[in-house]
Amino acid sequence: MPKLRMATGSLELGGAFSAQPRGRISGVLLFALLSAGCAKAPPPRPQPVAEPTPPVIELIIFAEGPPELAAPRPLAPRLRWTPAAPPEGTLVVMTVEPARGGLPIFEARARAGDKPIPLAPLRGGGFLGLVAAPISADEVSVEVGAVLIDGSRFTQTLALRVASRDFPATRLRVARRFTTPDERTLERIRRERQLIRLALGTVTETPLWRGPFRRPLDGRTTSPYGQRRLFNNELRSRHTGHDIDGETGDPVYAANSGRVALSRDLFFNGQAVFIDHGLGFYTGYFHLSERVVGEGQWVEQGELIGRVGATGRVTGPHLHWAAYLQGVHLDPLSLLDPGLAGASERLLGPTPSLAAAR
Ligand SMILES: [Zn+2]
Repeated sequence: MPKLRMATGSLELGGAFSAQPRGRISGVLLFALLSAGCAKAPPPRPQPVAEPTPPVIELIIFAEGPPELAAPRPLAPRLRWTPAAPPEGTLVVMTVEPARGGLPIFEARARAGDKPIPLAPLRGGGFLGLVAAPISADEVSVEVGAVLIDGSRFTQTLALRVASRDFPATRLRVARRFTTPDERTLERIRRERQLIRLALGTVTETPLWRGPFRRPLDGRTTSPYGQRRLFNNELRSRHTGHDIDGETGDPVYAANSGRVALSRDLFFNGQAVFIDHGLGFYTGYFHLSERVVGEGQWVEQGELIGRVGATGRVTGPHLHWAAYLQGVHLDPLSLLDPGLAGASERLLGPTPSLAAAR
């Protein structure tokens, strides 16, 4: 089983420029200046939890005149990510936080290539974002910007080095209808691909998970993530999930809380459930014999979502566990990184059960 090395990387956001005159810039002006789609403190949605976010308090203090004692300085925010050198197919957790003795961050934003990375506020005035280190990538470039409450701006481009992994190859024998589908089946496959692409491409701006992720099923690994697959001696694909051995009927649990995005019978994936965990992040559970959750339904971590089966393109009963960030498939084992759990504990906003009640 591949072991993922856990370490955290960090640096300061560099490139400070044009600090605005202190106390002159208003929050309203900043809101007007900044484009949509970036994270702001406080979060723009209504807060069922009466929990004030620290940047708001600071902003109010500032508007009424700079505080006299121990004035924090406009220091470059701290950028941290884990794992420090992510292996191919890893989910990377990134945080942007105020420097010690530095001014609070008013807003932050990030993007990887042309994809905005939604950021979620953390306790203590920072933000959390998720980045994919895709398979076959050497490097991922992440652009991060932050504006402090005095208007000073900081930007940093993070060149995240992706560590290569050795993926084994395997030969599988499956029914011919799965390798040479007829025209009607091809049409179904195309329709389902589009459906999945649309679902996984939908970004919920709020994080819906909390705390550590868990395995959906205990059992031995029958096929690891990334394995190269030859169906009837023909190289067809890479394994885009993590297979766990099980008996038909074994319970399958949600790896974390979220909303059921898809619950369907699909040609390749069989009876399948996809859970939206927020920030563009999803998990998938395939080849089930039975699904017990419906689309749109809220699920808690560890809740029963279905049972192990052998539906779709399979060689026997097992669970295919998948993870996706903004449509990019990732190794679900990377969700078990304690770095992800640690940063997630500090997420602000409604608890999953409150979100469920909305
Ligand atoms: Zn699989």
